[in-house]
Amino acid sequence: MKKFIPYGKQFIDEDDIKEIVEVLKSDFITQGNKVPEFEKKLANYCGTKYAVVFNSGTSALHGAYFALGLSKDDEFITTPITFAATANAGLYLGAKPVFVDVEPDTGNIDINKIEEKITEKTKLISVVHYAGHPVYLEKIKQIADKYGLKVIEDACHALGAKYKGEKIGNCKYSDATVFSFHPVKHITTGEGGAVLTNDREIYEKLLMFRNHGITKDKSKFLNNPDGEWYYEMQFLGYNYRMTDIQSALGISQLKKLDKFVEKRRKIAKIYNEAFKNNSYFDIPVEKDYAFHSYHLYSIRLKDEYKEKKREIFENLKKEGIGVQVHYIPVYLHPYYQKLGYKKGICPNAEDFYTRQISIPIYPAMNDEDINFVIEKVWKVFKER
Ligand SMILES: *Cc1c(COP(=O)(O)O)cnc(C)c1O
Repeated sequence: MKKFIPYGKQFIDEDDIKEIVEVLKSDFITQGNKVPEFEKKLANYCGTKYAVVFNSGTSALHGAYFALGLSKDDEFITTPITFAATANAGLYLGAKPVFVDVEPDTGNIDINKIEEKITEKTKLISVVHYAGHPVYLEKIKQIADKYGLKVIEDACHALGAKYKGEKIGNCKYSDATVFSFHPVKHITTGEGGAVLTNDREIYEKLLMFRNHGITKDKSKFLNNPDGEWYYEMQFLGYNYRMTDIQSALGISQLKKLDKFVEKRRKIAKIYNEAFKNNSYFDIPVEKDYAFHSYHLYSIRLKDEYKEKKREIFENLKKEGIGVQVHYIPVYLHPYYQKLGYKKGICPNAEDFYTRQISIPIYPAMNDEDINFVIEKVWKVFKER
């Protein structure tokens, strides 16, 4: 069979499998004690007070926006260089995403362009640590405080990353941080996600939101309980729960997270060395405030090559390199176009899109895989 290396994939070992099987043999495969255990360990890892796990990163984003009070006709600031879910989750609540252009090098939201987009209706800023490179969080917090806005970090790319030496997810500069545990992300639970926060009120809202808006906490009841069985649904929530099976996998994966990130950084270092100062594309940057967790290894074609992106992409695929593009600017999708977003509103993001290609990076890559990628990348660029 022809060798094919995907741009990202999970790393599952025998320990992970053993943990899952144990849950399958136990009395509770969902709503048992693995969920709170995973939450506690996740919060500890990031240095946050609370974590609430969800059945996807998208539902976690939905929960975070809800818990921070985003609602109908509010606006929220976000970036177009992200997966659609970052903006979609706000649309679920009837709010309007306002896209701010990106920095050409990191692909992160351009902090200097946020203030001009703030209006009376702006409720929060949702930043994405693109590819695993943290946003300059202090400045985001400063702007948010100046205008009385909330901050959400969509850190789906950035578990294990650090801002000025401190873990992403500690919520020092934000009200909530969201992670995804999709198989291409740093750790996986199959599908899954989490919201981290230091705020008790947000935490309690999140718990109810993922469980239909129901509480069983007597101290929270609005009416007098009819008996022992009594519970109350107080707002319209969803079934966004993660299972114990998934949480057991998450707990086991979390133990390996630092090794995963280390491996990703090692691969990035090898790529950086191999591709430095080449005339075809720019390699990723790592600013002095950032500890990059390399969810993606994102290259940007130089001027002479961006017109050839389609051909380069196809040839890399033909050579067995599972390249991807991250991302089509969200507002260019037909659904957003129908909502009235115009092409041209974020020129840097559109330019970024014409240049960007992600090449494979994931912990299970061995030296042979890494060298295979380097060799094929050279081959495709030199041949054209
Ligand atoms: C993966 C991802 C999501 C969505 O996570 P799912 O677990 O796939 O729902 C949201 N935002 C970003 C930036 C992502 O990369």
